[in-house]
Amino acid sequence: MTTLFVSDLHLEADRQDIGAQFVEFLRTDASEADSLYILGDLFESWVGDDDPNAHYFTIKRALRKLVDSGVPVYFMHGNRDFMIGKDFANETGIEILKDPQKVSLYGENALLSHGDALCTDDVQYQRIRKMTRDPKWQAAMRAKPLKERLRIAADARRQSLERTLNLDMNIMDVNEDAVKQVIEEHGVDILLHGHTHRPNVHTVDLGHRRAKRIVLGDWYTQGSVVRWNMRGPKLETMPRN
Ligand code: MN
Repeated sequence: MTTLFVSDLHLEADRQDIGAQFVEFLRTDASEADSLYILGDLFESWVGDDDPNAHYFTIKRALRKLVDSGVPVYFMHGNRDFMIGKDFANETGIEILKDPQKVSLYGENALLSHGDALCTDDVQYQRIRKMTRDPKWQAAMRAKPLKERLRIAADARRQSLERTLNLDMNIMDVNEDAVKQVIEEHGVDILLHGHTHRPNVHTVDLGHRRAKRIVLGDWYTQGSVVRWNMRGPKLETMPRN
């Protein structure tokens, strides 16, 4: 049996093609899996579980169907969908995980993370992250009318795009020291994350031992998945029809 990992689908109503591939993935590959982990940025934007967006409804229904069929689905917040809350979890049956989360899979210890917390070179982003993950900030945001939240989210996306256009690409990657620190702290052999949209398998030299860092890719032009079974984890792309 296999455990599946995906991240950075960035689902939105304007990209029905991504949603269609994901729903098909849930119906086929995921339905035969031990469990499915979604490591953040499932959605391009999320302003609250009360958003009546029809595309979101389609995705929620597909997740519910998978969970009801007996496949546990775990979700970790990304930097786009950190406002996903209890109502979404109740509607879909998914379980929300803390970031990072240590798991034991087929005899190996792994640490799961979205990955944005490891991008410590981007000091400005880390400040934004700290602010937006504060429960008080989130409560104040949830108290605003849906229309205002949607406007704020659209502004934030535009500002983020403008900012990252002018940033050195390396600043937006994970910091090597932060990676080593988190691997040592949790005593794992493998770190698995997304966020950077740079799918790859890296060797991390800790001096006294070596670990592996697996990076999931985004779903903009194709699917990206880690299939993990008795033989270990394997990073794969899934072409879009
Ligand atoms: Mn991200």
